[in-house]
Amino acid sequence: MSIIIQAPELEKTIASLFSAVGSTPEEARQVAANLVLANLCGHDSHGVGMAPRYVDAVLEKNLTPNAHVQTRVDTGTLLGLDGQNGFGQNVGVQAMQMAFERVRAHGSCIMSLSNAHHLGRIGHYAEMAVENHWISIHFVSVNSRPIVAPFGGGDGRFGTNPCCIGIPVGVGKDTREPFILDFATSRVAQGKMRVAHNEGRSVEPGTLIDENGQPTNNPGVVVVPQSNGKMGALMPFGQYKGFGLAVACELLGGALSGGGTWHKEADGRRAVLNSMLTIVIDPKRLGTENSFGQETTEFLDWLRKSPNAPGTEGVTLAGEPERKKRADRLKNGVPIDDATWQEIVNTARLVGVSI
Ligand code: NAD
Repeated sequence: MSIIIQAPELEKTIASLFSAVGSTPEEARQVAANLVLANLCGHDSHGVGMAPRYVDAVLEKNLTPNAHVQTRVDTGTLLGLDGQNGFGQNVGVQAMQMAFERVRAHGSCIMSLSNAHHLGRIGHYAEMAVENHWISIHFVSVNSRPIVAPFGGGDGRFGTNPCCIGIPVGVGKDTREPFILDFATSRVAQGKMRVAHNEGRSVEPGTLIDENGQPTNNPGVVVVPQSNGKMGALMPFGQYKGFGLAVACELLGGALSGGGTWHKEADGRRAVLNSMLTIVIDPKRLGTENSFGQETTEFLDWLRKSPNAPGTEGVTLAGEPERKKRADRLKNGVPIDDATWQEIVNTARLVGVSI
């Protein structure tokens, strides 16, 4: 069962939780709007269901409201930033805006951000860049608990390390909808297992192993401790290739930024820290704006003309499912499953907010 809430009302409700634990009205609104946007895009795993976890992290003093990014290194096109354990939806936007200043001045920027609390849907940051007709590439590490098993391994050793590539399509008046590839390197996002567990659904074979390293389709193994006190693990996507990309995200997002990698047992903390390596490129400054715009259009049109595979609706390009879902949920409201809503209500009670 689920309830349906219109996005503006949901945003206000969720913002009130963050205000209650010390965020300024602007930060509370910004974080809530980002979470609601994830729900609108169909990524409920990264939507308002994360709010109780964020509130717990503030109460545990592992997430600092109203933080500002600190600059460690600034050579113009190279920016080394620290997110100071602030809300990712706030310090992540600050960091992108700083990178954008460098792109305007120099045509590109390599920006690393360490110690941001959960950045949410990484596509959000790529969309910010693509609005300016810039390319944006992101490698992200997740410092939270070891939830994904290495290919060939039998227990969780690292996080769901997302990777994202945003590419503007077309040029000038012929600008099209962008290509936004944005995914967890685990076969599915961990939050989707929380949603499946809350909804009492089982998941596809090959997604999970249990606490003993055996294949299972019960999402609960990565949501609640099992009988021996241990947790199961998600598998990486794409066998050893996805595993390789997950390791690259850990090394580029975590090690290179100074945020660090995960190499210890779970410690039970509710905080989720992200570190992110971002590369932003202005195709105009590379001198290929027109041909790039034309080629991106022609290539994607070429792909769309492929005949439908049996039983499918044909070719979909990255970014399209989210835009479609957003249009639908803006019109018809956002469904929130009962268990997620109950967690939000419990959190509201905890921080003295009536909803
Ligand atoms: P997913 O498996 O739904 O894949 C999403 C990507 O695939 C999108 O780019 C989408 O447009 C594209 N896509 C979907 N269906 C398609 C189709 N039929 N054909 C072509 N392309 C298609 O996403 P996910 O792995 O569940 O990740 C969900 C979100 O979770 C992402 O926004 C990610 O950034 C976020 N995430 C964040 C963290 C963090 O720590 N901050 C960790 C993991 C994931």
